[in-house]
Amino acid sequence: MTGPPVREVLRRLREEQGPLAPRPRLPVLDELIATVLSQHTSDRNSERAFFLLRSRFPSWEEVRHAPTGEIADAIRCGGIADQKAVRIQRILAEIERREGVLDLERLRRLDDAEVERYLTSLPGVGPKTAACVLLFAMGRPAFPVDTHVHRVTTRLGWLRVGATAEEAHRVLSALVPPDIRHDLHLALVTHGRRVCRARVPHCPTCPIRRWCTRGPA
Ligand code: SF4
Repeated sequence: MTGPPVREVLRRLREEQGPLAPRPRLPVLDELIATVLSQHTSDRNSERAFFLLRSRFPSWEEVRHAPTGEIADAIRCGGIADQKAVRIQRILAEIERREGVLDLERLRRLDDAEVERYLTSLPGVGPKTAACVLLFAMGRPAFPVDTHVHRVTTRLGWLRVGATAEEAHRVLSALVPPDIRHDLHLALVTHGRRVCRARVPHCPTCPIRRWCTRGPA
C-alpha cells in the first residue's frame, strides 16, 4: 500500500506559492514565548505583540517580575492577552526555577526527544509549541500541527475527522519525512490561509484538489 503523496503535495504547493519567505532564527526562549503569543491570532498581530512586549520589557527577567496586568497591556493586540500574560509568566517562573537563569540555549545540546520532553513539561506548553521551537529556533525536523495544518491534512485524508491534537502530531510526524517537514509545514499553513480556508475553501483554484478527499465544495 502506498501512503499519501506528501512529496507531490509539497511540490505542487511550492510551484503555486513561489519562494519561501525567510524567517529569522530566534533564541530558544524568544521562540517559545513568540509561539505562545501566536496562539489564536494572525502572524501580524502576534509579531506586533512580541515586538511591543520586548520594547517595554527588554529582558525576560523584567517580563517575569512585572505586574501581570502590565504584561497583558503590552501584548493586548495579540488577543486573549490576560490568559497569555499569565501563561508567559508561569513558563518563565518554571524556567527560572529549573535553570536558575532565563535562558534556554543549553537545550541546543539535547536531542530532539529530550527537547520535546523538556518543553512539554513546562506549564501550558503542548506538542505544537514544542515543535515550533524545535523547527524554527533550532532547525530540527519537527512538524508543528497548527489549526491550518490540521484542517488541510484532514481534508486530504491524512488525518481522521475529529483527530485530537496529540493524535494529529503523532500521525503526521510518522507520515511526513524529516527532510520536508519545514517546507511542508509552511506550505500547508499558507495554503490553509489563502485557499483551503475553514469556512469557505476555494476548491476550484486549489492546486492539490486531485488528492483531496473532502468532495465538491
Ligand atoms: S480541494 Fe478544497 S478542501 Fe480540498 S485541499 Fe483544496 S481547497 Fe482544501
